[in-house]
Amino acid sequence: MKKVVVFSQIDEEILSRLQQDYHVVVLNPKLGDINEQIRKEVVDADGMIGAGRLLNESNLAPAQKLKIISSVTVGYDNYDVAYLNQKKIWLSNTPHVLTETTADLAFTLLLSAARKVPFLDHWTKQGEWKRTVGPQQFGLDVFGKTLGIIGLGNIGAAIARRGFYGFNMNIVYHNRREKPELAEPLNAQYLSLDELLQQSDFVVTAVDLNTESKALMGKAQFELMQKHAIFINIARGSVVDEQALIEALQNEVIFASGLDVYEKEPLQDSALFKLPNVVTLPHVGSATAETRKKMANLAYKNLVEALEDKTPRYLVNPNFE
Ligand code: NAP
Repeated sequence: MKKVVVFSQIDEEILSRLQQDYHVVVLNPKLGDINEQIRKEVVDADGMIGAGRLLNESNLAPAQKLKIISSVTVGYDNYDVAYLNQKKIWLSNTPHVLTETTADLAFTLLLSAARKVPFLDHWTKQGEWKRTVGPQQFGLDVFGKTLGIIGLGNIGAAIARRGFYGFNMNIVYHNRREKPELAEPLNAQYLSLDELLQQSDFVVTAVDLNTESKALMGKAQFELMQKHAIFINIARGSVVDEQALIEALQNEVIFASGLDVYEKEPLQDSALFKLPNVVTLPHVGSATAETRKKMANLAYKNLVEALEDKTPRYLVNPNFE
């Protein structure tokens, strides 16, 4: 019987299906050092499935016959792909099924930051609503404004569509390469990063984390943004120099920010918590019951196909390169 290591909490139904056909070992951080557990269990494992763990040489080196790591995510920056290629281990992910859900969340952050939703919710519940609201409670318009998307991939394009069709926004974008097939229907203009930052009322980062996108947004970039502009990050925390963002918010270099992802997660004791002009969410871009189910099913399919000696559809490194 082939062995599967489950390295994070996964959908219960998927777990039972796996248990019917495979020898399944579920790792549990409550039982001790998780990396020790990985090193021990990976020795004779054929497959792994899960999310949210750093997997690299330090914990995968003992693997003798590991064929696939099936990640229940679209982003794969937690995995050392170069090392997996060297060991000839496939890495699969779950693109597309979470695109619209994550774009919904990006827009939730955008609207919440623009209209000060968390601040006003708290203010109302505290009983502060004693007379009609004033400038402190006023937000910013979204309809008809300029939306700048950095990373016009699947999610970036879905965010842009919401802005274009729903809010009559002028769409501009920056990407490693131009994307006419996505941009043309939205009348979206390609700009350099600096031009996009200077012209946008709302800037959203939707890139994958890679060597070029790491710390893409730093002090110099925030200083290029307009004073009334809002910055949204649903990509990965390390796309942003978080300290530079905190200072930009503290010094009112920009108006506000909406964040789902952070340099270090879970976010604890952060200076961000003290800022009224930032909306902080706990990395929930894809976190709806329906979408998490679809991601779990897709990850299960990828895993099983590899274990049945077929080629899974969503491989990050199909040819180990
Ligand atoms: P995708 O389709 O691969 O899109 C990523 C886009 O970013 C691509 O168009 C890519 O350009 C572009 N890009 C990468 N590096 C860049 C750079 N340095 N400068 C400019 N553009 C760059 O992926 P996706 O499905 O939209 O997902 C994007 C990312 O969102 C994921 O990798 C993940 O990290 C994050 N995410 C977060 C959540 C959440 O819960 N908050 C949920 C889902 C995904 P090319 O066309 O040249 O490749």
